[in-house]
Amino acid sequence: MFSYIIVGAGFAGAVLAERIARELDEKVLVIEKRNHIAGNAYDRYNADGLMVHQYGPHIFHTRIKEVWEYLSQFTEWRLYHHRVLGVIDGKKVPIPFNLNTLHEVFPSSLAQSLEEKLIGHFGYNVKVPILKLREADDEQLKFLADYIYEKVFLHYTMKQWGVTPEEMDPAVTGRVPVYISRDDRYFQDAYQAMPQEGYTRMFEQMLDHPNIKLMLNTNFNEVLEIKEGAIFAFDQEFTGKLIYTGMIDELFDYKYGELPYRSLRFEFSTLPEKTVQEVGTVNYPNDYTFTRITEFKHLTGQMHPHTTIVKEYPQPYNRHTEEQSIPYYPYVQPEPLALYEKYKAEAREYPQLLLVGRLAEYRYYDMDAVVAKALKVFRDKIAQHRE
Ligand code: FAD
Ligand code: UDP
Repeated sequence: MFSYIIVGAGFAGAVLAERIARELDEKVLVIEKRNHIAGNAYDRYNADGLMVHQYGPHIFHTRIKEVWEYLSQFTEWRLYHHRVLGVIDGKKVPIPFNLNTLHEVFPSSLAQSLEEKLIGHFGYNVKVPILKLREADDEQLKFLADYIYEKVFLHYTMKQWGVTPEEMDPAVTGRVPVYISRDDRYFQDAYQAMPQEGYTRMFEQMLDHPNIKLMLNTNFNEVLEIKEGAIFAFDQEFTGKLIYTGMIDELFDYKYGELPYRSLRFEFSTLPEKTVQEVGTVNYPNDYTFTRITEFKHLTGQMHPHTTIVKEYPQPYNRHTEEQSIPYYPYVQPEPLALYEKYKAEAREYPQLLLVGRLAEYRYYDMDAVVAKALKVFRDKIAQHRE
């Protein structure tokens, strides 16, 4: 009946379903355990009529033209450049830490000489990860690096991950490098925008095809079984391709142990004001137990007399406790990566199985990277190998 079964209706699953249905004209069954599509990018109107992102604020940005053009088939865009302020010593300053921030936190003569040092050492318009800046062998740059490390990164990272920046993969804090520039935007990618009618609407457009059958509220293990090199669907051997975008440890019933993830608790509030923040997101590296507050209206551009904000409280992941059971982030450290490789090796015993996405690949992917990966998998592993 189906040549392709896809587990998960997030970006990875939806892009592949769309490509297979439209490009190959083949039937696809999409199995999704939640009661909605769009994965963690899911957005909806709340009871107050404000558009919110249920699993945390999602801002689309990419430098990959192919990804931009691909998604543009399914949505109009609202151009949006995300800006973030961080509270340092009671003052809201631009994040990532850049030359504007430098001049806001230090007296002008010191800021000027630090600016010259930074440009002289690294150049202008250059991004320097904080862990790299800390290696500088110049006294003044060391002073600056220690300041930024302490005020922006250390306590935020402790809250977010429960460990120091050094204990995480350097790429994690490297996502928000010190930027030797006057550009205050959070991202510099060529394409930055929000889907005009929201992510969920965009996913509806992608999945709207007679070849795509969607089963919501269904965990893969209710209909699929994977054992001894064979895959069974609805109690019959399945010889098509299985594209899996969920947790790889769950797929193999945790046989080598559980992979660690980091979870979040979101606290939403609607306030009887038009707007409460100067920018989309304010980070609180040093105060409170939440890391940041996002006000959705900045992202969505929605006109409404009230406004909804969300606070993000990091917490350990625990699949046995409902409130902690969403694996928002893979925990990118050497030990978990070694464990992931064990599962990956097991997966190779199933030539029909393709693992795609943030959970299945255990990678800290942004949305655009998942779309790019799914398009590549379609080209290299599906369209080319078609019988
Ligand atoms: P997901 O979106 O997680 O989709 C996987 C789907 O599979 C889910 O719907 C899940 O329910 C389903 N599934 C899992 N297991 C099973 C099972 N056993 N049976 C059936 N179904 C199953 N990226 C950006 O580019 N910009 C941002 O601003 C941004 N902000 C983020 C903020 C937060 C708080 C988080 C956590 C992530 C953010 N991301 C952002 C990353 C973005 O969420 C991911 O890149 C993207 O959602 C990954 O898509 P995916 O399809 O791999 O995974
Ligand atoms: N980070 C930080 N202080 C900040 C912003 C980010 O320490 O003000 C670090 C922190 O470790 C965080 C990582 O940089 O987890 C990546 O930040 P990003 O905003 O990209 O996180 P995401 O939006 O993916 O949660």
